Amino acid sequence: MSYQPLKGQKALVTGASSGIGAGVALSLAQAGADVVINYASSAAGAEKVVKEITALGRQALAIKADVSKEDEVAAMFKQMISAWGTIHILVNNAGLQQDAAFVDMTLEQWNKVIGINLTGMFLCSSLAVKEFVRRGMQPELSRAMGKIICMSSVHETIPWAGHVNYASSKGGVKLFMQSLAQELAPQKIRINSIGPGAIQTPINRSAWETPEALSSLLTLIPYGRIGLPEDIGKATVWLASDDSDYVSGQTIFVDGGMTLYPEFARGG
Ligand code: NAD
Repeated sequence: MSYQPLKGQKALVTGASSGIGAGVALSLAQAGADVVINYASSAAGAEKVVKEITALGRQALAIKADVSKEDEVAAMFKQMISAWGTIHILVNNAGLQQDAAFVDMTLEQWNKVIGINLTGMFLCSSLAVKEFVRRGMQPELSRAMGKIICMSSVHETIPWAGHVNYASSKGGVKLFMQSLAQELAPQKIRINSIGPGAIQTPINRSAWETPEALSSLLTLIPYGRIGLPEDIGKATVWLASDDSDYVSGQTIFVDGGMTLYPEFARGG
């Protein structure tokens, strides 16, 4: 059996019916956790992940909720806690892009991205923290009272023309995560982020689906390959486990070196 540092713990992954969220949910289950698969619209995608997890001998529960809606998030946490008693690990993964040149960007596009990518993290983290505190420590399961992992992006630090709403949301995630980590560390709650580079998922299909697009993308990645959801899954398991017990308020970039200013390898 594989290493199971999360055995007995209950996790919730938002936006887990596809891409990185699905990969993360599977990695958490392989590490021993039971996992709630939150989804916004794809019940079929969520059920597929549920089947993969139950085949591993772990529990999985698909719950529909729009993370930007307070009442839906509240109902999701209520359902999870009445089914499984508590939550130990929250992965704030749900996110999207609504790209536009700035002169064309509408308030609706701005609000949608901020509402899901940033306010969604606030709503889910708020209820997770309330539950961590209500439940208290469970030293037989973890040295921390609870763990939150935020799916940020290399664009929490790299500006991105044509994507001002998205980059603003991820820049917001950086200080949301750090401020929350500073506030809650004394209560043994650890909050960290992962900053994925280019990971092969539906969100960025146009950047990898043709050989021309992929070769242009690879000029931005020193390590010379596109990332896979399991690359992010492995980092998430580490951040959720006691192996990272002394790590708090950090963003781990899992990006094949995308944040290393690769253009400077060829000049500068
Ligand atoms: P994806 O489109 O496959 O996944 C995003 C998921 O979020 C989808 O399952 C979608 O249904 C869900 N979602 C969207 N709106 C929602 C809502 N209102 N409520 C609940 N769920 C909602 O793309 P992905 O690449 O797997 O993205 C996952 C996360 O990773 C996002 O936060 C994204 O910003 C981040 N990210 C991805 C990359 C990449 O290269 N793929 C890079 C950096 C960061």
